[in-house]
Amino acid sequence: MPAAQTVPCQYRTGKTLGSGTYAVVKEAVHIKTGKYYACKVINKKLMEGREHMVRNEIAVLKKVSSGHRNIVTLHDYFETAHNLYLVFDLCTGGELFDRICAKGNYYEADAAELVRTIIKAVLYIHGCGIVHRDLKPENLLFRSPAEDADIMIADFGLSRVMDDEKFKQLTEICGTPGYMAPEIFRKSGHGKPVDIWAMGVITYFLLCGYTPFDRDTQQEEMEAIIAGDYKFEPKEYWANVSEVARDFVRTLLTVDPTKRPTAQQALEHPWLASSEPHFVADP
Ligand code: ADP
Ligand code: MG
Repeated sequence: MPAAQTVPCQYRTGKTLGSGTYAVVKEAVHIKTGKYYACKVINKKLMEGREHMVRNEIAVLKKVSSGHRNIVTLHDYFETAHNLYLVFDLCTGGELFDRICAKGNYYEADAAELVRTIIKAVLYIHGCGIVHRDLKPENLLFRSPAEDADIMIADFGLSRVMDDEKFKQLTEICGTPGYMAPEIFRKSGHGKPVDIWAMGVITYFLLCGYTPFDRDTQQEEMEAIIAGDYKFEPKEYWANVSEVARDFVRTLLTVDPTKRPTAQQALEHPWLASSEPHFVADP
């Protein structure tokens, strides 16, 4: 095992927790306090010419992080000649992606509970004038290994601050193909509705264990997304899923972004509104 590295004096990094395109995320212990964190290490060379993306991620995190219980908290950040370091509160429960894979799929009531929590956090993010743009089960983390642990929105690497007046000001193609909304491919301009589309894909995935637009090639996948071409099939995977849950998915996967519900409207859909846990007064 290689010797532990010392991240600018204060932290000692340990095992790798996950990795993405530009970053590797490692467990890190704050030497003075012995507290554990997750440290996102971004190699400046790999990011060359795109350092602004990390600065943007930090700026967005400063705006939203610690303002909501279901958004990962940026604790600290610094840089050396070679790397940028973002220190987050540690989520020890792993990615939603792995939980879906382990379970096969979620029970509908549990899926509704998770989706409600995530959309409430999305509502908060959107309220701060930010669009996340990379919502997917790999970027949704559990705070602890407990079955009922808080789910946390992570990875603001592709997020943007949006001017509310200009609903469609973003045009670059970015995201993870299977979760990208049709308007991103059409390059017709996009904004907050892309996060709602991604929540539709995530809900579909939670309910059946696979994603709706999975095709043999990326071209076919893109064409399916633009056409909104998906089915609740094979039927045996959908046999136990209610009509109201399907309607929720259908509503979020509305191809026209202007007709897609907002986060607030999604929360008001009967699938989420009706299964809100009933308040039980103390005897
Ligand atoms: P990228 O932009 O490269 O995708 P992410 O911020 O998504 O980087 O981090 C990559 C992976 O690292 C995540 O999918 C997750 O598995 C893990 N990770 C990120 N942040 C944390 C955290 N705060 N606690 C635990 N694991 C984390
Ligand atoms: Mg990621």
